[in-house]
Amino acid sequence: MSDKPDRVEFYRHSVGDEEVAAVTEALGDIFLTTGARVKQFELALADYLGGGIDVLGLSSCTAALHLALLGFDIGPGDEVITSPMTFVASANAILYAGATPVFVDVEPTTGNLDVAQVSAAVTPRTKAVVCVHLYGQLCDMRALRELCDRHDLRLIEDAAHAVDGLRDGVRPGQLGDAAAFSFHAVKNITSAEGGAIAVRDSEVFAKLRPLSLHGQSAGADARYASTYRHWDMVTLGYKYNLTNLQAAMLLPQLARVDRQRDARERLAHVYEQAFADVDGIEFPRVVDGATSGRHLFTIWVPAADRDRYLTELGERGIGVAVNYRAIHLLSYYQQRLGHLRGSFPVAESIGDRTISIPLYPSLRDDEQQRVIEAVLAVHRVS
Ligand SMILES: *Cc1c(COP(=O)(O)O)cnc(C)c1O
Repeated sequence: MSDKPDRVEFYRHSVGDEEVAAVTEALGDIFLTTGARVKQFELALADYLGGGIDVLGLSSCTAALHLALLGFDIGPGDEVITSPMTFVASANAILYAGATPVFVDVEPTTGNLDVAQVSAAVTPRTKAVVCVHLYGQLCDMRALRELCDRHDLRLIEDAAHAVDGLRDGVRPGQLGDAAAFSFHAVKNITSAEGGAIAVRDSEVFAKLRPLSLHGQSAGADARYASTYRHWDMVTLGYKYNLTNLQAAMLLPQLARVDRQRDARERLAHVYEQAFADVDGIEFPRVVDGATSGRHLFTIWVPAADRDRYLTELGERGIGVAVNYRAIHLLSYYQQRLGHLRGSFPVAESIGDRTISIPLYPSLRDDEQQRVIEAVLAVHRVS
């Protein structure tokens, strides 16, 4: 399926010849699923993140968040603090582990967790914080680390947007106890679906591989190395493994991840300049000391007009999305946790005003100008 000719797509992936060659080669191997190429990718990602860390390839970021919580023995009766300004996976994983998500409001400039409010939400049942690096900009990890140390909490990073993010000299996984990554189709590197977890504590890490493969004592790849040996099931695990085909697709993308980030950075600057002086249009700020992964570019428009913008931009052939409506107001969370409008006013305000516009390395300058002109045209009639 090709692009519609006069449409500016919301997203186009950057997978090309290198990935085709890598996957073609991997198809010639005896193992299609978890094996040597996954190992190679795990080592490459650990290296990219700065070393001193173990990485396990997984089927999704959702799986990574779930296993992180299980790895730290978080479950029923425990509270886990997280952001309402995120994709539902961040909170769903907490429910999968049997724990209770406790939402805390976000900063108005970045949409990331407000550390002072995290501090105020800690109770004797709190066991962890799942912080979300929204749009690729890392949370204030130094402050969160200090807070988590003070209260003996595990710090888990939802780095689905931020494999290539950096703040105060640290990458995801360096200050958190675990970092979860997504390789879903629209993320900064992709295997259509896929994920990974990075963990610094090797004892915790040792628990994760069996948990990702039904609790089996050894995977098929390890067993293949010798003559037949029986395997055992030592714990109740899940089916969360990454495949060699996915790893083959990810390796060349990881090698150019910073180049692709730089391309999105350049485009993001063009948007920021175009909207900087427009009354009624705002956007999140990248703070000093941060290099955002620039996963998404969002503009914040007046709440009363947001849905009209979405329709009219769509009619003008501009692909748009909403990342995100505050998740505590989605039906399930509203019913399950009893939150009402007004509970987290900053997240609600962002959720009511936000529009994501096209941002990807192959977005052409003329396409970006069309996006800017369309936004300004729709804005002028409000
Ligand atoms: C995409 C996303 C996830 C889930 O990633 P999957 O790999 O699809 O499970 C989690 N958190 C955030 C913030 C995301 O954007």
